[in-house]
Amino acid sequence: MNADNVKPPAPTLPGRAAQFPGPDSFPAVAGYHRRQRAWLAAATDGDPLDPIAISFVIPLLNEEDNLRPLYAKLREVLNEIEQPCEVIFVDDGSSDGSFAVLQQLHADDNRVRVIRLRRNFGQAAAFSAGFDLARGNVIITMDADLQNDPSDIPKLLAKIAEGYDVVSGWRAKRQDAYLTRQLPSRVANFLISALTGVRLHDYGCSLKAYRSEVLENVHLYGEMHRFLPSLVSWMGIRVAEIPVEHARRQFGRSKYGLKRVIMVILDLITVKFLLDYSTRPIQFFGLLGLMSTSLGIVLGLYLSILKLVFHQGIGDRPLLLLAVLLTILGVQFVTMGLLGELVIRNYHEAVGKPTYAVRELLMH
Ligand code: UDP
Ligand code: MG
Repeated sequence: MNADNVKPPAPTLPGRAAQFPGPDSFPAVAGYHRRQRAWLAAATDGDPLDPIAISFVIPLLNEEDNLRPLYAKLREVLNEIEQPCEVIFVDDGSSDGSFAVLQQLHADDNRVRVIRLRRNFGQAAAFSAGFDLARGNVIITMDADLQNDPSDIPKLLAKIAEGYDVVSGWRAKRQDAYLTRQLPSRVANFLISALTGVRLHDYGCSLKAYRSEVLENVHLYGEMHRFLPSLVSWMGIRVAEIPVEHARRQFGRSKYGLKRVIMVILDLITVKFLLDYSTRPIQFFGLLGLMSTSLGIVLGLYLSILKLVFHQGIGDRPLLLLAVLLTILGVQFVTMGLLGELVIRNYHEAVGKPTYAVRELLMH
């Protein structure tokens, strides 16, 4: 029998976990979940559908001194929320003693899982690795540098329980330098909100909660983690934003400088394009192409009439160049659109990414 056809027993979530219906309450998506996570079953001892309600995903790079205090605070919250949790630390190629600390946390608490990446891949890739390992129906992300406060977590969970798919933290009283951090961040937040249509005050805050099905099949590149709410908005999500605490960094150094601003802007262009045009490139390039070619043809006709009817010389007219340029450019745009259509079909079919997303299913 094909392994895909064997339905594992539905996990029974004790206590309040039932508030967060998982993928198995959702037959169409469940098979999809299972296939995506098949490798995970091989990589870990447990069944990937273990009854875990909440997974924390915490990427870190050289945060040796922050890890113990962070975990101490987190553990208080874990005990308080009384739901089966796991904490996934993703060591993004630290060169200090971070991994040794994580080894100890792992030995002391069986809720802790650690992924150690081979080198520094960047925060987005680290998040991706954590998402791939996470088994919870709710995934909470945060920084490892103690700038986020774990005591905000129950507030995030309450919003998820209300029915939101993504709950984003908003560092209303941000404790970072104004000129180099807050100002660029404000500009970026404004641009991202305006262009992607997902209105948030603070995209950069790592403290966020997601229903896990929203993150299924999301691949993060570059600085994309901060666009996650926008990136997944194509599937129709409910987003809430709540103010959270923010503390000044006590130990270790920030890993980013002003260069990040440029990277964020460049990634924003990609996200905008992916969101608006990735399933219909011909409509974007085709429209440009048709406009350009039509204008070129009109100009060409005008020049032809001058030449053929009025017998004027048109060989030295700049307009002739423009007509030729616009016509050729237009044809190229249309061709690019067609190529785009091929690439997109390839992409969607290769990764099995659907062109739709289901929220609920009523069947007999
Ligand atoms: N981080 C990471 N990989 C990187 C850079 C950063 O995992 O390549 C982690 C870092 O350890 C921290 C979080 O991402 O937990 C946010 O980084 P940071 O505090 O330096 O950013 P800032 O708060 O200054 O924007
Ligand atoms: Mg920080």
